[in-house]
Amino acid sequence: MKVRDRYAPSPTGALHPGNARSALFNYLFAHREEGTFILRIEDTDRRRHDDGSLATIMEGLRWLGLEWDEGPERGGPHEPYFQSERLPLYQAAADRLVATGDAYRCFCTPERLEELRRSQERAHMPPGYDGRCRDLDPAVVAGRVAAGDRAVIRMRVPGGSTAVVDLVRGTSEFANATLDDQVLVKSDGYPTYHLASVVDDHEMDITHVVRGDEWLPSAPKHVLLYGMLGWEPPVFVHLPLVLGPDRAKLSKRHGAVALLEYRDLGYLPEAMVNFLALLGWSPGTGDDFMTLPQLVQAFDIEKVQVSPAVFDAAKLDHLNGQHIRALPPEEFAARVRPWVPELREELLAAAAPLVQERMTRLTEAPGLLGFLVAAPDGGRDGIVPKKHDRAATIEVLRDARAVFAGADPGPGLEPGLRDVATRHDWKFGEVMMTLRIALTGSPVTPPLLESAALLGQEEVLGRIDASVAALEGAAGGKEAS
Ligand code: GLU
Repeated sequence: MKVRDRYAPSPTGALHPGNARSALFNYLFAHREEGTFILRIEDTDRRRHDDGSLATIMEGLRWLGLEWDEGPERGGPHEPYFQSERLPLYQAAADRLVATGDAYRCFCTPERLEELRRSQERAHMPPGYDGRCRDLDPAVVAGRVAAGDRAVIRMRVPGGSTAVVDLVRGTSEFANATLDDQVLVKSDGYPTYHLASVVDDHEMDITHVVRGDEWLPSAPKHVLLYGMLGWEPPVFVHLPLVLGPDRAKLSKRHGAVALLEYRDLGYLPEAMVNFLALLGWSPGTGDDFMTLPQLVQAFDIEKVQVSPAVFDAAKLDHLNGQHIRALPPEEFAARVRPWVPELREELLAAAAPLVQERMTRLTEAPGLLGFLVAAPDGGRDGIVPKKHDRAATIEVLRDARAVFAGADPGPGLEPGLRDVATRHDWKFGEVMMTLRIALTGSPVTPPLLESAALLGQEEVLGRIDASVAALEGAAGGKEAS
């Protein structure tokens, strides 16, 4: 049996990390088994529909590299992949269920249901439909339908209990009395998620339903529906919750943002995929660094864990640094490119190896490489070391200038600069920090003498002169400290 699984988002908002994790696990499992990964859009909730959502979901999946085998923009043997275009299928299933008595028309008004809910709340009873329309006389039902009364269709949950078999959780037994007579078709004629997803998972030959475990409580209703319709249920896999570091459900409060915002925060899709894969699964080898193809090779759905996963931002940063360092140099330069659009091509190529080793996020690129685009504009905070004064700093810069004037800048100048430090009784580190700020305006840069080499001798001398002039100007304005 070929594996066919699906990621089935409702287009009601942006793609979030938890949902992306569900998509990824479906992708990994399908690819591992040489099966088919399907994207299906569950757009039957007209009230919560968000027009921009589908585009960002597809963009997010593609950013991660999770191209689907069947679905929107790709087509496939089970088109259409939008539930809103498959309504007759759900209608036919609902009609069958009504005909067999497994579902019934319910004419209760929203007002009555609201009053019911309130009285249940007052009586500290669990909320749920009280079954008023369960056993209406068929003639009465026919009359009300003929009169055009609005109705929903509810499933008639039988007595007894229902077992949900989950590949990683084993079997869970649910008492049917705890299950509501779920609405299957709303009064607007649209199916609810429960009916539509069961019909589609059957029609699309889905073998495995891999989804977040917030759906586990719905699973017994789905199992009942399969039975009522005479269909074989798929294998279920419910993925563990994703929690914030405080073990509360992951939310905005934990800085959890839409998936694509991680792109804008300078994370590589490779790192994001690696990180998401470890939310509820582990290769068990002790080595967490993995690429998408390696994840596909190693993925074992039976090793998905049951206990919740914790979203650890420090781990994401760590993996991002590792994936940055693993990129081939030209590829790294290409990833950095959008962050420093003004940087000349050959300078970027030459500077990339200097920063690749030290970056955690691509957002650091402008700070680290900006000095190659423009000279520091005034701000030279920290150019005078704490233990020295402005006049001494001017002297040191002049001496250092002479070293740079004598030879092309590069690591070969280090001995000459050490001599400068000794002569002035400065630490070598102090000389280098003063020079760093003179040349770049920033205390954090790639290795300084390599950076100076990229600037070239003329530019280095000009920047030292400008710093000396700035210090002298400041000294003239008020007494040097
Ligand atoms: N449309 C549901 C969601 O948005 C899919 C749940 C499922 O995979 O069955 O999460």
